[in-house]
Amino acid sequence: MRFVVDVMLGKLARWLRLLGYDTIYDQSYNDEALLKLSKSENRILITRDVELFKRASKEGISSLLIHSTDLMGALSEISPLIKDSFIDSIGTRCTICNTPLVETDRSKIPSEEIPNISPLWSCPRCGKVYWHGSHWKGIEERIKNIKTNIQDIKR
Ligand SMILES: [Zn+2]
Repeated sequence: MRFVVDVMLGKLARWLRLLGYDTIYDQSYNDEALLKLSKSENRILITRDVELFKRASKEGISSLLIHSTDLMGALSEISPLIKDSFIDSIGTRCTICNTPLVETDRSKIPSEEIPNISPLWSCPRCGKVYWHGSHWKGIEERIKNIKTNIQDIKR
């Protein structure tokens, strides 16, 4: 399951990547580019723009219109789509550039600012380093909410 997300939903795009979904998000893409991309790469278009959603539907492109203005609301609107593929791929993709992460060794990372925590992951494309630090608790809380949501749908 792959996505392309419109410019209004940047936070949601980062979260889809965090959950492991291949998600294209680029602020320079206009409606035409988004439609073309979802068609050619068979990606589900996620948008908050009613007009864009209507256009996509007319052109036979799978799309989802988001109504919520907050992240958790938007994620619960996506839950029906991801309910069957919500696997443990959490944290496997770079939230900045959408590239799959590789596990890495502290000795291979030059920066002194990275805490002495393992495991560490790094992005082969943009170089960002990831670890499950104190911020991860908040992320896990949200993931738990999404899981509960999905279980409710499946019931
Ligand atoms: Zn990256």
